[in-house]
Amino acid sequence: MSRVYNFSAGPAVLPEEVLKEAAEEMLDYRGTGMSVMEMSHRSKAFEKIITDAEQDLRDLMQIPDNYKVLFLQGGASQQFAMIPMNLMKNRTADYIITGQWAKKAAKEAEKYGKVNRIASSEDKTFSYIPDCSDLPVSEDADYVYICENNTIYGTKFKTLPDTKGKTLVADVSSCFLSEPVDVSRYGVIYGGVQKNIGPAGVVIVIIREDLITEDVLPGTPTMLTYKTHADAGSLYNTPPAYGIYICGKVFKWIKSQGGLEAMKERNEKKAKVLYDFLDQSRLFKGTVEKKDRSLMNVPFVTGNADLDAKFVKEAKEAGLENLKGHRSVGGMRASIYNAMPYEGVVALVDFMKKFEEENL
Ligand SMILES: *Cc1c(COP(=O)(O)O)cnc(C)c1O
Repeated sequence: MSRVYNFSAGPAVLPEEVLKEAAEEMLDYRGTGMSVMEMSHRSKAFEKIITDAEQDLRDLMQIPDNYKVLFLQGGASQQFAMIPMNLMKNRTADYIITGQWAKKAAKEAEKYGKVNRIASSEDKTFSYIPDCSDLPVSEDADYVYICENNTIYGTKFKTLPDTKGKTLVADVSSCFLSEPVDVSRYGVIYGGVQKNIGPAGVVIVIIREDLITEDVLPGTPTMLTYKTHADAGSLYNTPPAYGIYICGKVFKWIKSQGGLEAMKERNEKKAKVLYDFLDQSRLFKGTVEKKDRSLMNVPFVTGNADLDAKFVKEAKEAGLENLKGHRSVGGMRASIYNAMPYEGVVALVDFMKKFEEENL
C-alpha cells in the first residue's frame, strides 16, 4: 500500500487514522455484526453515531443552543435553492459575488426572487475580496449571502461583511472546521463535507432556530424545507448514514488534535510554507491578493501553460497528486485542507524548488 499526497480540491484528503478505523469497523461495527452501511438508520447503533456526531460538532464550533444542526443530502449546490425557498419571505436577497460558487448561488436564487449583487470581485477574476465594510444592503433583503472561502480562486473573507442587521448566510464548504468561528454572527452556515470533513453525499446546515419556519415559498418540496429535517433530527427519511459516520470520526479526530484553535495553527503553519515560497520564487506566482489569501486553497501559476502542464505531470510522478488548477482559472492549485499533513506541503515546496531549478 502506498498513499500519495492528495491536493485535490474535493473530494479531498481525509485523516489516515479515520480511514484506518473505518476499515477496521467495516465488517463488524462494534459487535453489531454488520457495517454501518448495512444497518437501519433507526437502530440504536446509528442513533448513537448521529447523536455523537452532532454533539462533537457542537463542541468543536461552540454552536449556541438556539441553532439546529442538520445533516442533509444534495450537496452544497442544493442549498443554492433551499436557502431562498426557505428564507426569502420578502423575495429579496443580497449576494456578494466572489467566485463561481457565489455566482451560481445568486443565479439559482433569481428563480425565487429579486437578487441584488451588492459587491463583486469579478473585475479582477475574483483575485480579491471586495471591501464589505459599508455595503448598499437592501432595506427589504431577507439575507446577505457570501461564499466565505472561494475554493476555485483561493480567497477567503478575513472579516465578515457588515450586513447592517440582516441575516448572514455563508457557504463554508471549503473552510469548514479549518479555524474557530463565531456561529452567532450567522443565520445559516452550511457546507458540503467533501472538502474538509468527510465523503461526498453529506451537507451540514447550521441554522438559527427562528429561521426555521413553515412559512416557505409556495411549492417548496417537503424534502427541501428545513423544518422537515429540523423536526425529525435529520431522520425524516434515510440520511446519508455512512457519510455521517465518517464525519463523526473526523470530528473526533479534530478534537483529539486540539480542536479548531489547533487546526488554525496547523493550517497557518502549512499555508505559510507554501506562500513564503511563492513570494520569493522566480518561476511560480500566487494569483491572489495577499490580504485575502485562503489557508485552504492555494492557486499558483508559472505564466506558461505548457510549463504548468509539465509541472502537474511531473508532480504526479513524484506522488503529489491533483495539483491541476480549476478549468476556469488554469495553472495549479494546492488544496491543503485539515487532513493534509505538514510534511505534504513541505514535499510540495521541495518539489517546486527542484522544478524551478530545472526549468528556469
Ligand atoms: C465544492 C463547492 C460547492 C459545490 O459543492 P457540491 O457538493 O458539489 O454541490 C459549493 N460551494 C463551494 C464553496 C464549494 O467549494
